[in-house]
Amino acid sequence: MLVDSHCHLDHLDLGHRDGGLNAVLAAARARGVTQFLTVAVDIPSSRALIELTAAHDNVYSSVGAHPLQKVAQAVPLVEELVALADNPKVVAIGESGLDNFYSSDTIDWQRESFINHLKASQQAKKPIIVHTRDAREETIALLREHSLSEAGVLHCFTESWEMAQSALELGFYISFSGIVTFANAKELRDVASKVPLDRILVETDSPWLAPVPHRGKQNEPQYVREVAQCIADLRGISLDALAEATTDNFHRLFNIPR
Ligand SMILES: [Zn+2]
Repeated sequence: MLVDSHCHLDHLDLGHRDGGLNAVLAAARARGVTQFLTVAVDIPSSRALIELTAAHDNVYSSVGAHPLQKVAQAVPLVEELVALADNPKVVAIGESGLDNFYSSDTIDWQRESFINHLKASQQAKKPIIVHTRDAREETIALLREHSLSEAGVLHCFTESWEMAQSALELGFYISFSGIVTFANAKELRDVASKVPLDRILVETDSPWLAPVPHRGKQNEPQYVREVAQCIADLRGISLDALAEATTDNFHRLFNIPR
């Protein structure tokens, strides 16, 4: 049994898919992927995802605003995030964080937004989903300052082993996407073989970043199986063992009873 711990179900192009989202979820279930965390990228999508999760079993959501937003959008307020999170199927705050790779010109907006998400995570007692790219030291410094009782996950991890270690010391989990299967991801595969088994999550980040051998296609939650298989192979364990551990980790981090 596998979990897709980070997908964007509301961004899938379902135009050519008979059965729409139900068909996507059924295809995933047929491949052993039975739970899904669909992650918000702004406040309107946070609201829409709460409705989506009400209509589907084993689909959970987060509330938050992605760091790569148009600067025109207001920074989400702590109270606003905490109020939206007051729903049993909202299991996390985010995704939020710092991204200097795609958008260093909006870094002030990103920082203000990230700090509000971190505060909301502590107040709502729900873990934070962190997007991080090319901002290692400042990200860790902010986590150290603001993630005192509630940790979270560094999602779609592509940074160094040193950064992973710093996050692990703070109680964070590390989530790997299809990038780990890419031919040029040697350093990342090394990280994925070293993170303790009780701190790993797997995700698709679909509809983006389809893993090998599906590159170029729209990514879907069912392909988290390829991500999990890749990491199981790296670690010399069975897919079942990796699936069991990452599913346990998902329930523990997001406080979802098994
Ligand atoms: Zn995402």
